[in-house]
Amino acid sequence: MTMTIDDVDTVVRALRTVLADEQILTGKADRYNRARVPAPFPVHRWSERLPDLVVLPTSTEQVAAVVTIANDLRVPVVPRDGGTGLTDGAVPLRGGILIDVKRMNQVHELDLVNRTVTVGTGINMLKLNEYLAPYGLFYPDNPASYPCSLVGGRIGTSGWSLIGSRYGHTRDLVLSFDHVLPTGEILHVGDGIGGKITKSSSGYQLKHLFMGHQGTLGIATKATLKLFPKAEAELSPFWAFDNYDDAYACTGALARAGVATFAGAVLFDEHKVAYLRRDDEAYIPQPTDVRALVCAVMYGYDDEVRAGGRRLFRIAKEHGARYLGDEISEGDWAARHDRYATPLHGRTKDGQVVPMSWHCEDAAINYSQLPGVTKAWHEIVAELRRRTDVFDDWGMFAYTQGSTGADYLTEIDVGIWEQQLDDRAWELWVNAKRDIARVSIDHGGSISACHGSCREGEVDLVPEELGRGFEVMLDIKRTLDPHNIMNPGKYHLDRAYREEG
Ligand SMILES: Cc1cc2nc3c(=O)[nH]c(=O)nc-3n(C[C@H](O)[C@H](O)[C@H](O)COP(=O)(O)OP(=O)(O)OC[C@H]3O[C@@H](n4cnc5c(N)ncnc54)[C@H](O)[C@@H]3O)c2cc1C
Repeated sequence: MTMTIDDVDTVVRALRTVLADEQILTGKADRYNRARVPAPFPVHRWSERLPDLVVLPTSTEQVAAVVTIANDLRVPVVPRDGGTGLTDGAVPLRGGILIDVKRMNQVHELDLVNRTVTVGTGINMLKLNEYLAPYGLFYPDNPASYPCSLVGGRIGTSGWSLIGSRYGHTRDLVLSFDHVLPTGEILHVGDGIGGKITKSSSGYQLKHLFMGHQGTLGIATKATLKLFPKAEAELSPFWAFDNYDDAYACTGALARAGVATFAGAVLFDEHKVAYLRRDDEAYIPQPTDVRALVCAVMYGYDDEVRAGGRRLFRIAKEHGARYLGDEISEGDWAARHDRYATPLHGRTKDGQVVPMSWHCEDAAINYSQLPGVTKAWHEIVAELRRRTDVFDDWGMFAYTQGSTGADYLTEIDVGIWEQQLDDRAWELWVNAKRDIARVSIDHGGSISACHGSCREGEVDLVPEELGRGFEVMLDIKRTLDPHNIMNPGKYHLDRAYREEG
């Protein structure tokens, strides 16, 4: 059973044996600043999610020393990188020590021959790519949170990249890393034990076990990443459609075409177009008969991107697409990282503009199930909206995950009037999230494609989705974290510590 800190002074005294004073923060502002993630939560309940103290380690050894102390004193530890995670993974549910890794942002080694880079997990992809640009290389993990999420958080969530159909996602791009276990021991995981090996079959595939665990199995501190030549050309056509069905058919055809430079396709549904038209100041006005949008993206050398592009344009035309032109296409694709700038307002039922925060629910859904899931999810949000003005439907995206177009990251965006999120509205929302997750499972999908699902509501269905696999998770958790100190309360993993009988 994990304990909360009764005596912060005892912990601080122990930490001072391994960290400098200025690496240990106990002030209110320092703690409140790290209690927040972008996903809306009732404002009156924020104080429930405060760490007791924050540490700023600079090396794997310091992280290991902190975790060892926490394990000895039975104090919760929560890893936090950019704090952009959307399922509360970096939010402390039981107080304790929050480990902020932002000072571990060094580039340790650039290997131009094997094309890898080894970095502290506190670095983010934008900074890393600024460093790599003069070498003609880039690291293509490209979430919409590209400038603000960090490599460690990408490992902690097993993140998903907007150009993953061409280059793979975080789990493919991270070759290996140093990892601090919940007991404070340090291990190196990769394919085999190799720092820069991309494929091995010796032993269990531990790299995947230590990715996407939301900080419940330890902390990644130093990672070796795969690099690619910086793309010479990028082509990102946006096409307009007068109905969802044609846009859906077109998206599938683009993804299945097998064009090597294809990096991804995105389908915006009618609700999303309506929301953009209504409330996104950055949206470029379209004729009113535009009801759905499709974007495709290609990366590579100029000559191959041109050839691939010609094929995709032909496919789009066959599906009734109207090309929106270079200016709109380039501008809209360039805006893919600006989602923090999404207008922070929504509308009440009578059209009144009110301040709202953005929440998204994501799932991995097979192509064939997309229309059914899209319809069911909108109905759930419509029912919420019928009951209270706290929620607004901001529409849906579906993004290809891989080059075959088998399954999609499917996301519904919901505006939430956070200041009005009282206990009743919160309960409605938690139930709705559970319903949204239920739809995913009923359609043969997964509750989450990238963010994880450790928030209230959908987390209840994780045991059902994983079946016997969830029990294996409990066994692993209990074995690696005997005192349940790593990010306790997440993923219902506390069940691993319940007394038998
Ligand atoms: C505007 C916006 C757009 C987004 N777009 C995308 C997108 O396109 N694709 C996508 O995948 N996600 C997206 N996200 C979600 C978020 O950016 C990702 O989940 C990201 O991987 C989180 O990284 P972070 O550094 O912010 O991690 P944090 O939020 O700090 O942590 C995330 C989780 O990982 C754990 N963790 C943190 N550091 C470590 C570590 N070093 N070792 C082990 N565990 C750790 C934490 O405890 C937590 O459970 C978006 C978020 C926002 C706000």
